[in-house]
Amino acid sequence: MRLLLMIIAFLMPLTPASAQPAGPIPYDGWTLVIHGGAGTIDRERITAEQDASIRASLSQALETGSAILREGGTALDAIEATLRLLEDDPQFNAGRGGVFTWQGTIEHDASIMDGSTRAAGAVTGTSNTRHPVTLARRVMDSSPHVFLSREGADQFSREQGLEQAENDWFETEYRRGQWEAFRARIESGEEIGVLDIDYKFGTVGAVALDRHGNVAAATSTGGMTGKRWGRIGDSPVIGAGTYADNRGCAVSATGDGEYFIRAGVAHEICAQIRFRFQMLLEAARASVPLDDEGVPEYYVHASEFGLETADMQQIADSVIAEMGDLGGTGGVIVTTPWGNSVYSFNTPGMYRGMAGGDRESSVAIYGDE
Ligand code: ASP
Repeated sequence: MRLLLMIIAFLMPLTPASAQPAGPIPYDGWTLVIHGGAGTIDRERITAEQDASIRASLSQALETGSAILREGGTALDAIEATLRLLEDDPQFNAGRGGVFTWQGTIEHDASIMDGSTRAAGAVTGTSNTRHPVTLARRVMDSSPHVFLSREGADQFSREQGLEQAENDWFETEYRRGQWEAFRARIESGEEIGVLDIDYKFGTVGAVALDRHGNVAAATSTGGMTGKRWGRIGDSPVIGAGTYADNRGCAVSATGDGEYFIRAGVAHEICAQIRFRFQMLLEAARASVPLDDEGVPEYYVHASEFGLETADMQQIADSVIAEMGDLGGTGGVIVTTPWGNSVYSFNTPGMYRGMAGGDRESSVAIYGDE
């Protein structure tokens, strides 16, 4: 069957469109998809300079991860390196440039997941770890746990010898201004709700498929401006803001964390993709002709099969719509072990980028791009 598909793929340019195979050809390349947050990102609010600067940062991050994947590096190494760069970039709500808490500090959340083993690591409320995504990875690789919080997480970070920074090193004037405006509005009794997405966008995330066939996902954020009472968003919650499973896909989310947690967005998308794939595989097996003894003439192996990007887009869109029905806004990036990648978001824009073995790498900001 694999040989047959390869022959068909080779002949494809010579055959008329109607004779081309309906199913996807197995993919042996790599993919990388990134986001830098979703929100009310439209042309009126962003200057030409900001637009250019965000695009340059996204392109650089994409190239950093792509270089690792192109050389045969792992999806985990690629997404970690990509997010470290974005964490250091003050334009994004992660690492340096993270939003302020109610008290005026900066507290980070991050997570990472390996689709080949479903191992995961996550941290919430860290104050001094320069690269929260690397700490999440250490939790996964070097601790018996999945999720560490606050001072304990920073302590583990020091014990692991990870780079530390004073909390005010993460500060930017822009985020301080947002915090002051937010507090002034709340203190004057205005009902703006703590879920006002415009006070936080800039969370960063990456998903990748490597040449070994493994997917991985990671997300890193400062959370939301004015967060208090130890509030935790979706970004470090495995299954809500981040999920990876080689049987389905890798997802990283951004948006109103509370709704992403309630809808279990990242796991929901992966589970639906996994079941859709199983369904299609079983249908393909059921359609194999039987020989005289009633035995299928050939065996359709899972590795010979994939998922159409349109199917996957429909799944991601329907889960985002469900989260939207609850009242939330935001988006996701998704990639599968079959090489499909999509974005889905219900906000006017999402900072995003996509690269892969056989496609031009591209970055985008607004919904209509
Ligand atoms: N999802 C993040 C949170 O709720 C924020 C964001 O993605 O903008 O903490």
